[in-house]
Amino acid sequence: MSVLVVGTVAFDAIETPFGKTEKIVGGAATYICISSSFFNTKINLVSVVGGDFPKDSIQMLKNKKVNIDGLQIINNKKTFFWSGKYHNNMNTRDTIETQLNVLENFNPIIPDKFKSSDFLMLGNLMPSIQKKVLDQMTKRPKLIVLDTMNFWMDNFMNDLKKALQEVDVLTINDEEARQLSEEYSLVKAAKKILTMGPKYLVIKKGEHGCLLFSSDEVFFAPAIPLEEVFDPTGAGDSFAGGFIGYLAKTNDISFENMKRAVINGSVMASFCVEKFGTKKLTEISQSDIDSRINEFIKLVDFDIKSKE
Ligand code: AMP
Repeated sequence: MSVLVVGTVAFDAIETPFGKTEKIVGGAATYICISSSFFNTKINLVSVVGGDFPKDSIQMLKNKKVNIDGLQIINNKKTFFWSGKYHNNMNTRDTIETQLNVLENFNPIIPDKFKSSDFLMLGNLMPSIQKKVLDQMTKRPKLIVLDTMNFWMDNFMNDLKKALQEVDVLTINDEEARQLSEEYSLVKAAKKILTMGPKYLVIKKGEHGCLLFSSDEVFFAPAIPLEEVFDPTGAGDSFAGGFIGYLAKTNDISFENMKRAVINGSVMASFCVEKFGTKKLTEISQSDIDSRINEFIKLVDFDIKSKE
């Protein structure tokens, strides 16, 4: 199965209670691609960077077997830049600066060979660009997943609502679910959001795990309790990469399989937060993933019946 990934490839400057980075490579699509590359699927990337983007980071994506034929390089412009500062609880952050740069006039051109990709991951990006991608697909993908954030809700809510009408799964965090639905209760928020287009909703709650909703079912996955959380940046995107990567690998989009996909996504996110930026994701191997899946199984396994 092939997965088309669209989203930012970026520079980030991050400050957490544990340290601070200068500009490092990040971006929603970068995290998604690295994370989904562990699932033996064909990954097709569509994004844009400026001439200032390091060639070795492009090579790193190629080494992960990501097809970068849809990555535009605009030599006389600068790469998208985001800086953020995490609060002491590491669950919330303030955006210090967002420089759209190359993203401002980005016209996503989907190479013909990507237009019939089996799965589509619309990573965090301007909603009108996400919609332009949807419009270019020649065959409706088996599953369309969209991720977004408060920045786009604050500035482009109408465009976002248009894009949402066409997607199958929306992944957002709890604050964003409340903002989008104007409901405080996450159960009420989910009910409302599921009338806006998506058939499934994933609400990410950082160290408190995540919820998967359909119109008549709900599933909860905790987050692996970690001794050290160094930098939560990219956790949501690593989750998305693991989620869609697993669904594409297994080619099964039932609710039952989405539960497994949520666990795989949570495992990928748990690695991401252990070091700054993409570092940890580029260091792990398949056996690290397998053993963390086993930790997950142990974490949620209990037998209540034998005591009755
Ligand atoms: P996450 O922590 O998973 O929400 O994603 C963090 C990544 O999102 C960072 O690497 C940023 O480069 C990227 N990012 C931040 N703001 C935006 C935005 N407004 N649109 C798209 N990507 C963004």
